[in-house]
Amino acid sequence: MEVVKVDLREEIDNSYDIVIGNGLLDSLAMELKKVPANEFAVITDSNIAGTYGKKLINSLKKENIDVHLITFSAGEKSKSRKTKEKIENEMLRLNLGRDACIIALGGGVVGDLAGFVAATYMRGIPYIQVPTTLLAMVDSSIGGKVGVDTIHAKNAIGAFYQPKKVIIDLDFLNTLQKNELSNGLAELIKHALIKDSNFFHFLEKNIGKILKLDSDALKTAIKRSCEIKADIVMQDEKEKGIRRILNYGHTIGHAIESSLNYRISHGNAIAIGMNYAAKLSAKLGHLHEGSVIRQNNLLEYAGLPHKLSHHKLKPRKLLEHVQYDKKIINGRINFVLLNSIGDAFVSDDVAMEDIKNILEKG
Ligand code: ADP
Ligand code: ZN
Repeated sequence: MEVVKVDLREEIDNSYDIVIGNGLLDSLAMELKKVPANEFAVITDSNIAGTYGKKLINSLKKENIDVHLITFSAGEKSKSRKTKEKIENEMLRLNLGRDACIIALGGGVVGDLAGFVAATYMRGIPYIQVPTTLLAMVDSSIGGKVGVDTIHAKNAIGAFYQPKKVIIDLDFLNTLQKNELSNGLAELIKHALIKDSNFFHFLEKNIGKILKLDSDALKTAIKRSCEIKADIVMQDEKEKGIRRILNYGHTIGHAIESSLNYRISHGNAIAIGMNYAAKLSAKLGHLHEGSVIRQNNLLEYAGLPHKLSHHKLKPRKLLEHVQYDKKIINGRINFVLLNSIGDAFVSDDVAMEDIKNILEKG
């Protein structure tokens, strides 16, 4: 027997910058001139195409940049293999080659979908994230998790594929609906809760300003939130260890989303999930009761719920979804808990019985 070894160990540099500011859409053309690509495809959804999409295309064309606009219907339903195929066919029809670059202009749906197209088109082409929702700015545009939903599970088909750059223009937030702003604040507050008590304190003091879209307060909050997420992703790009603390509030949050058939926003679901996770942390002797109250007060101020009535969310049904989602070993599961505000850890020893009690008590 002969053996041919294919030795493919390599050091990959996936580093990139996140740029945060105002009026960046206007200066994007200058940024793109630095990208080694000959053609650009702006991928966006039907709500954004007519406004920001058009504006971006016009400003790029003025600079003689070769650019195409590719649009799909807005909504989570579009985050599918079917839409991916449609976008790919359109790109092939336009004859876009390996020297093309994708610009993902939109919220999380656009970013995840366009990023996944970039990951597999011609075996991978560069892409730039231009998030337009707060959720995408502080969470989904950072870290390179891209993918689509299936009828069986959300985000089930995807890849880790890092963008070349993330450009966060705060001006986009002026047209965002209030509930979408709250949706993003849930993840932003989560970042403070798991990693930075000073940042949590800053949010307590400045949440009013942030809700009024005060530019300085927003910039500070978004920058710190991005730093925390980026810092965790840098330590654990493929979610083998510490990256799991980003799932604070998400075990029960996901159970709520699936038991309500996704008729609840992700931010609302994880805010409720964080309430249960904090209460569980307190019950198991890790977290102060006072900290649970501080967490929930801030969530409430940000326009987020921390509870749903029992007739809407049956504890037993929720528990089934938690069990379905998680590996249970001897009646115990992995669960992200807080030691204190700003200090999360993954426990591999939470009893299903304790979760049940917390869900029943609320
Ligand atoms: P996320 O997953 O980031 O919450 P989605 O991609 O689901 O975001 O977008 C939520 C909704 O907000 C979509 O209908 C989208 O078209 C719309 N949207 C995105 N950005 C803006 C914006 N800057 N202004 C107004 N609406 C926006
Ligand atoms: Zn989330």
